[in-house]
Amino acid sequence: MDNAAFSALSLHKDLLKNLESLGYQKMTPIQAQSLPNILNNKDVIAQAKTGSGKTAAFALGLLNKLNVKQFRVQSLILCPTRELADQVAKEVRRLARATHNIKVLTLCGGMPFGPQIGSLEHGAHIIVGTPGRVEEHLRKGTLRLGNLTTLVLDEADRMLDMGFQPSLDAIVEQLPRNRQTLLFSATYPDQIQSISRRIMTDPVMVAVESIHDKSTIQQHFYKVNSDKERMTALQLLLQKYQPESSVVFCNTRRETQEVADELVDFGFSALALHGDLEQRQRDQTLVRFANKSTSVLVATDVAARGLDIEALDAVINFQIARDAEVHIHRIGRTGRAGSKGVACSLYTDKEAYKVALLEDYLDQLIVGEPLPSMQLLEKRTFSPSMETLQIDGGKKQKVRPGDILGALTSKTAIGKEGGADTITGSDVGKINIFDRCAYVAVKSDVSKRALKKLGQGKLKGRNFRARLISS
Ligand code: AMP
Repeated sequence: MDNAAFSALSLHKDLLKNLESLGYQKMTPIQAQSLPNILNNKDVIAQAKTGSGKTAAFALGLLNKLNVKQFRVQSLILCPTRELADQVAKEVRRLARATHNIKVLTLCGGMPFGPQIGSLEHGAHIIVGTPGRVEEHLRKGTLRLGNLTTLVLDEADRMLDMGFQPSLDAIVEQLPRNRQTLLFSATYPDQIQSISRRIMTDPVMVAVESIHDKSTIQQHFYKVNSDKERMTALQLLLQKYQPESSVVFCNTRRETQEVADELVDFGFSALALHGDLEQRQRDQTLVRFANKSTSVLVATDVAARGLDIEALDAVINFQIARDAEVHIHRIGRTGRAGSKGVACSLYTDKEAYKVALLEDYLDQLIVGEPLPSMQLLEKRTFSPSMETLQIDGGKKQKVRPGDILGALTSKTAIGKEGGADTITGSDVGKINIFDRCAYVAVKSDVSKRALKKLGQGKLKGRNFRARLISS
């Protein structure tokens, strides 16, 4: 029997027939791993990206156990953006088209509230929505979820990135405990582990890609003749590897600031992280680095300790660490799921003894490599893809992620749908809300437009000042 055949599963006949008519001949790897568990009514954490067939994996699970005759909301699918919610709803409808009368409703922020209330009054079996808006309907009593049997969190990592954790918690509180919970996420940071522990029961984990593996880190060592050459070497390495996010480790606070300033002078996007920063500066630096609007963070070991960055493309040791354990700890921060991370270390003659200590510790021979060609510095192509907007309103003003996302992507503020002024959910990155201010990352090519939209639109019925912050 073919293990990847849908017919090997206990799926309803009409679902199977429809899959055939859609041309889905075999299960994708994530479907083959997750569907048997999902159909067994298990809670499942699946590490899968867009394009893996993840939507069909959870959609077939919830459709197979849906009771069409019971006209109550039985499944809730939460997505980070309206675009994704629309795509998911479309796929669910396609998979459900052979079953009569299944009603799928989307409830997303940035859309008028009134018509959604009307649709809810007509009833639905499956809701696909964004967390902020679903929470609002629950609070207003326009949505009731007492009959829910399946909860799906799609792109859970992105939802957490966008600050939806409080909304997710508020929604889950309203759901029956005896339910199936399915969590799909491209990455698996600590935050996902902690939320899954709270809202799932004995989950089965499936993944199609191997997760973080330290052996995938390539180490490179470069000998430099002077401190001046160290700076040039750093630029060459940044230019060669073009990391989207990298940390440069220095041994002193003063040096982090000097190196960051010099990198900025040379046109790189860099910020220093050290113990002398005020809390607000530190928050801002971490936000800008995590949301990818700054690509190089120059830090001391102490300052980097609290750094909650799940994967870096590169770690560069401006000097070799004091001891081997610190070195291993530093380079362990690089290496993304499935792809390789780079760790580069610069050393002078005076530090050669540290290299010898590392050789002992790692039990491997370390050979210095020649630096990349100076020609690399002639054409600089180094710029982050995102920019950060700061908004002068935060938790105290009850500003929530959904409000910001809504103001940015609303179709009414300026411009028409599909016109040059449209901003979509995929242009928006991380959203961080502090007590009195908030930050949102947007793609660089829409940053001016985003600023204009925030300036013209209202958040919570008020105008808040917003500005672009850049290095
Ligand atoms: P997703 O990762 O959910 O965004 O799905 C990616 C695309 O794959 C969608 O267009 C699905 O319609 C399609 N798809 C999902 N499962 C299968 C399958 N088993 N065979 C063929 N296409 C599929």
